[in-house]
Amino acid sequence: VTAAPPSAIPNDISSVIEADRAHVWHHLLPHKPLETTDPRIIVEGKGMRVWDATGKEHLDAVSGGVWTVNVGYGREEIADAVRDQLVKLNYFANSAGSIPGAQFAEMLIDKMPGMSRVYYSNSGSEANEKVFKMVRQISQLRHGGKKYKVLYRERDYHGTTITALSATGQPQRAAQYGPYTPGFVEVPHCLEYRNQFPDAEDYGIAAANAIEEVILREGPDTVGLLCLEPITAGGGVITPPPSYWPRVQEICKKYDVLLHIDEVVCGVGRTGTWFGYQHYGIEPDFVTMAKGVASGYAAISCTVTTEAVFEMFKDDVSDPLHYFRDISTFGGCTAGPAAAIANMNIIVRENLLENTIAMGERFVNNLQGLAEKHRVIGDVRGKGLFCGAELVADRATKEPADEKKVQAVVADCMAQGLIIGATNRSLPGFNNTLCFSPALISTADDIDEITAGVDKALTRVFS
Ligand code: PMP
Repeated sequence: VTAAPPSAIPNDISSVIEADRAHVWHHLLPHKPLETTDPRIIVEGKGMRVWDATGKEHLDAVSGGVWTVNVGYGREEIADAVRDQLVKLNYFANSAGSIPGAQFAEMLIDKMPGMSRVYYSNSGSEANEKVFKMVRQISQLRHGGKKYKVLYRERDYHGTTITALSATGQPQRAAQYGPYTPGFVEVPHCLEYRNQFPDAEDYGIAAANAIEEVILREGPDTVGLLCLEPITAGGGVITPPPSYWPRVQEICKKYDVLLHIDEVVCGVGRTGTWFGYQHYGIEPDFVTMAKGVASGYAAISCTVTTEAVFEMFKDDVSDPLHYFRDISTFGGCTAGPAAAIANMNIIVRENLLENTIAMGERFVNNLQGLAEKHRVIGDVRGKGLFCGAELVADRATKEPADEKKVQAVVADCMAQGLIIGATNRSLPGFNNTLCFSPALISTADDIDEITAGVDKALTRVFS
């Protein structure tokens, strides 16, 4: 464990803190407490660790707070690749191509059998919006404008714009931002622990069949898209039962509903495969990704689709409007694909997918070990370095643990110098899952250190 190099903290850090307090509107943060406490300013990162403006070191078990910095902090190789590209060509609108844009698209498609085209933009929300727009246009081009509805799932999240919020299964996040975009319809979640289908012989099949019921209720000729996270992230790290995905795919095929997998969190290695959906042997029509694509070294997101979908948008000479009439200005920034190439090279060269599987197994075993000691842990879930522990007040009734206590665990870890996450102000009554997504470079010592910190916090908060 090393201390922050003193050079990382500017001498005039107090003026930085005051400037922040006076002028920065932070994401996702109630600001009233900042009238009496300092905002947290992170000044430097290296590997799995970050240092704040007080010089305090933190082990980051959530990769930049929101599961993003997959290859860890301080990667000079990525910074160099971005710098080299920026001095050659920083930007040109993506109606033209760029060298890193073409090269990264080829690398990416190589990892995604069955997929063919990459559309660049800047954030997960935007990547998902592109899919929603494509589906509406396909509905116009092929189905007389009728097959426009998008199904999304309870507990899933797809972004922050009004339309992405229209597709959110986390009501507390969407509340206050209506009216929403019409045409978005919710389907039930697939969290076996919460047993929404108590009579089911096979839980995965029952949860998938519940989607079919919604399609039939809405009318199959009106439903264009089913949009799902491969493993629900912020909604509680929900790993679906094995039978779920094949049945979902079957249902989509049956009703000609395009399948969109939102890999904004799981994409590019997080779960130990390049993409989360690749654990389940399914063939999506759209895949979106953002956070881990360049590990936060540059802003980039991708909407990836098949040649069959792309073909529907090919110019029709008799109709001059028959192409995807969309642009993302900064989708033409070359820093994104340049960083993404370097990021992917690191994952391959350092065998980080293999490491993610091995360390993920260790993490789940560790959390199960904690569950033997702490009765407050009701369920442990995980795939690769993406794990969750659902906290309950009572194991028999599965009554969720008090949200304030769940947040107290997060705060206790923070005080120890360990950054973890939890479902927070998103699911009424169910903000009770601790979330972990350490970088794919995690060592056994890192995983054990995270576990030990959580152990201490659970003991202090719940005993
Ligand atoms: N999809 C999922 C599954 C996410 O978790 C997020 C962000 N947390 C988004 C989409 C939106 O991404 P962004 O914040 O980059 O718009």
